[in-house]
Amino acid sequence: MSDSTDTIFSKIIRKEIPADIVYEDDLALAFRDLNPQAPVHILIIPKQPIAKLADAESQDHALMGHLLLTVKRVAEQQGLTNGYRVVINTGEDGGQTVYHMHLHLLGGRSMSWPPG
Ligand code: 5GP
Repeated sequence: MSDSTDTIFSKIIRKEIPADIVYEDDLALAFRDLNPQAPVHILIIPKQPIAKLADAESQDHALMGHLLLTVKRVAEQQGLTNGYRVVINTGEDGGQTVYHMHLHLLGGRSMSWPPG
Protein backbone atom coordinates (compact mmCIF):
# COMPACT_ATOMS: atom_id res chain seq x y z
CA MET A 1 0.00 0.00 0.00
CA SER A 2 1.36 3.41 -0.83
CA ASP A 3 -1.26 6.08 -1.36
CA SER A 4 -4.46 5.06 0.39
CA THR A 5 -6.04 8.00 2.18
CA ASP A 6 -8.17 5.92 4.58
CA THR A 7 -5.71 4.39 7.00
CA ILE A 8 -5.76 3.34 10.62
CA PHE A 9 -4.93 6.97 11.44
CA SER A 10 -8.09 8.19 9.68
CA LYS A 11 -10.03 5.85 11.96
CA ILE A 12 -8.24 7.36 14.98
CA ILE A 13 -9.15 10.88 13.76
CA ARG A 14 -12.79 9.81 13.42
CA LYS A 15 -12.60 8.18 16.90
CA GLU A 16 -13.62 4.85 15.38
CA ILE A 17 -10.73 3.12 17.14
CA PRO A 18 -9.20 4.15 20.47
CA ALA A 19 -5.93 6.02 20.86
CA ASP A 20 -4.21 7.76 23.75
CA ILE A 21 -4.70 11.30 22.44
CA VAL A 22 -2.50 13.94 24.08
CA TYR A 23 -3.35 16.97 21.92
CA GLU A 24 -5.99 17.92 19.36
CA ASP A 25 -6.97 21.03 17.43
CA ASP A 26 -8.77 21.76 14.15
CA LEU A 27 -5.78 20.79 12.01
CA ALA A 28 -3.77 18.24 13.96
CA LEU A 29 -3.97 15.29 16.32
CA ALA A 30 -1.26 13.85 18.58
CA PHE A 31 -1.45 10.43 20.19
CA ARG A 32 0.90 7.89 21.75
CA ASP A 33 2.49 5.31 19.45
CA LEU A 34 1.17 1.78 19.99
CA ASN A 35 4.71 0.38 19.90
CA PRO A 36 6.84 3.04 21.64
CA GLN A 37 10.54 3.25 20.82
CA ALA A 38 11.31 5.66 23.66
CA PRO A 39 9.74 6.58 27.03
CA VAL A 40 7.85 9.31 25.16
CA HIS A 41 6.81 8.34 21.62
CA ILE A 42 3.99 10.42 20.19
CA LEU A 43 2.71 10.69 16.63
CA ILE A 44 1.59 14.08 15.33
CA ILE A 45 -0.64 13.90 12.27
CA PRO A 46 -2.57 16.33 10.08
CA LYS A 47 -6.31 15.71 10.07
CA GLN A 48 -6.12 16.22 6.32
CA PRO A 49 -5.07 12.83 4.90
CA ILE A 50 -1.77 13.62 3.16
CA ALA A 51 -0.31 10.17 2.49
CA LYS A 52 3.34 11.12 2.84
CA LEU A 53 5.62 14.13 3.06
CA ALA A 54 6.52 13.70 -0.60
CA ASP A 55 2.86 14.38 -1.47
CA ALA A 56 2.67 17.72 0.37
CA GLU A 57 2.07 20.70 -1.93
CA SER A 58 3.04 24.34 -1.63
CA GLN A 59 -0.55 25.08 -0.54
CA ASP A 60 0.14 22.92 2.53
CA HIS A 61 2.96 25.13 3.80
CA ALA A 62 0.97 26.62 6.69
CA LEU A 63 -0.18 23.14 7.74
CA MET A 64 3.41 21.84 7.63
CA GLY A 65 4.50 24.70 9.89
CA HIS A 66 1.59 24.04 12.20
CA LEU A 67 2.61 20.39 12.54
CA LEU A 68 6.16 21.33 13.54
CA LEU A 69 4.92 23.87 16.08
CA THR A 70 2.53 21.22 17.40
CA VAL A 71 5.50 18.92 17.95
CA LYS A 72 7.17 21.68 19.96
CA ARG A 73 4.01 22.29 21.96
CA VAL A 74 3.53 18.60 22.76
CA ALA A 75 7.21 18.21 23.68
CA GLU A 76 6.82 21.05 26.18
CA GLN A 77 3.60 19.52 27.49
CA GLN A 78 5.46 16.21 27.98
CA GLY A 79 8.28 17.93 29.86
CA LEU A 80 11.02 17.09 27.34
CA THR A 81 13.28 19.89 28.54
CA ASN A 82 16.50 18.00 27.71
CA GLY A 83 15.74 17.61 24.01
CA TYR A 84 13.99 15.16 21.76
CA ARG A 85 14.03 13.77 18.24
CA VAL A 86 11.52 14.38 15.43
CA VAL A 87 11.34 11.82 12.62
CA ILE A 88 9.30 11.68 9.41
CA ASN A 89 9.60 8.33 7.66
CA THR A 90 8.69 8.87 4.03
CA GLY A 91 7.98 6.18 1.45
CA GLU A 92 9.42 2.71 1.17
CA ASP A 93 13.10 3.58 1.62
CA GLY A 94 12.16 5.88 4.49
CA GLY A 95 10.59 2.95 6.31
CA GLN A 96 7.07 4.39 6.29
CA THR A 97 4.42 1.81 7.22
CA VAL A 98 1.27 3.93 7.67
CA TYR A 99 0.45 6.08 4.65
CA HIS A 100 -1.03 9.02 6.49
CA MET A 101 1.80 11.50 7.00
CA HIS A 102 2.99 11.67 10.61
CA LEU A 103 5.80 13.09 12.69
CA HIS A 104 7.33 10.90 15.39
CA LEU A 105 8.20 12.76 18.59
CA LEU A 106 10.70 10.65 20.54
CA GLY A 107 12.08 11.63 23.91
CA GLY A 108 12.87 10.67 27.46
CA ARG A 109 16.16 8.98 26.59
CA SER A 110 19.39 9.82 24.79
CA MET A 111 19.21 9.10 21.03
CA SER A 112 22.01 7.65 18.94
CA TRP A 113 23.05 8.54 15.39
CA PRO A 114 22.95 7.42 12.61
CA PRO A 115 19.52 5.76 12.60
CA GLY A 116 19.22 2.26 11.16
P1 5GP B 1 5.94 4.70 10.27
O1 5GP B 1 6.67 3.39 10.27
O2 5GP B 1 4.91 4.74 9.17
O3 5GP B 1 6.82 5.91 10.27
O4 5GP B 1 5.21 4.78 11.67
C1 5GP B 1 3.95 4.23 11.92
C2 5GP B 1 3.82 4.16 13.42
O5 5GP B 1 2.45 3.98 13.73
C3 5GP B 1 4.58 3.02 14.07
O6 5GP B 1 5.50 3.54 15.01
C4 5GP B 1 3.49 2.18 14.72
O7 5GP B 1 3.88 1.65 15.97
C5 5GP B 1 2.35 3.15 14.85
N1 5GP B 1 1.04 2.55 14.78
C6 5GP B 1 0.59 1.68 13.84
N2 5GP B 1 -0.69 1.38 14.06
C7 5GP B 1 -1.07 2.10 15.15
C8 5GP B 1 -2.32 2.21 15.85
O8 5GP B 1 -3.32 1.59 15.52
N3 5GP B 1 -2.32 3.03 16.94
C9 5GP B 1 -1.22 3.74 17.33
N4 5GP B 1 -1.35 4.53 18.41
N5 5GP B 1 -0.04 3.66 16.69
C10 5GP B 1 0.03 2.84 15.61
